[in-house]
Amino acid sequence: MLESVDPFMDPQEFFPDMGPEGLELMRREAPRQLCQKTGKMLLPIQGFLVKTPQHVILIDACIGNDKTCEFEESWHKRSDGRFLAGLRAAGATPEDIDFVMCTHLHIDHVGWNTQLEDGRWVPTFPNARYIFPASDHDHFSSERGVAYQESVLPVIAADQAELVGPDHKLGDYLSLIPTPGHTPGHVAVEVAHAGKVAVVTGDLMHSPIQCLKPEWNFAYDHEPELAAESRRQFLGMASQRQDLVLGSHFPLPSHGKVVAQSDAFAWLED
Ligand SMILES: [Zn+2]
Repeated sequence: MLESVDPFMDPQEFFPDMGPEGLELMRREAPRQLCQKTGKMLLPIQGFLVKTPQHVILIDACIGNDKTCEFEESWHKRSDGRFLAGLRAAGATPEDIDFVMCTHLHIDHVGWNTQLEDGRWVPTFPNARYIFPASDHDHFSSERGVAYQESVLPVIAADQAELVGPDHKLGDYLSLIPTPGHTPGHVAVEVAHAGKVAVVTGDLMHSPIQCLKPEWNFAYDHEPELAAESRRQFLGMASQRQDLVLGSHFPLPSHGKVVAQSDAFAWLED
């Protein structure tokens, strides 16, 4: 479910390692991630609905409505029905969701976890268990940032949260891939069935350009070297297994395959 596609940060601020040459490379290799008008990164914000024979699962919960965001105006106090309409169009109501899995606890992945009701934050998905990476919870609960207070803490208070390790499995189809670096407990989510694997990247990567340049870190990766190592490992595995890769912030349609190419990788969009 797509919530928005808006310009977000100058590419050379987004990827400080890029430099002018890297920007040229991006213009050639990932042109649709650049806003023609502003020159900024175009960043889709989306969650993914997975229906297995056992469960209905939402992977990542976007920005949400009425949330406080000090650093990005277009994310601040939104009032937009697109995400929930998308959920319904995909054949699920909020009541249908059995599990919400957050790849990490950043503001654009936890927003719809909660919504404002009579001035209080309450879980948007009343019947869901919410799966949060425990190491991310440790980190963000000590920081007590606004996203944690508005979108994570109310879920814990409602006794709907499960803090899990990176080896957690959900039913017969879903498992986590530990991909720390962007945040301490970041995970990608793997959906496997009949020998085929799809992976939701979360913010392990933000752009297909990072297939060619896995060493390019996002400016706000928590541990840049670890993030780059997680990307290399993941790209190696995904190219070998020929996974269907769902890049959370990749240009729409955001899915494709990764192939090995010289000392890095290439992105083959579906
Ligand atoms: Zn993100």
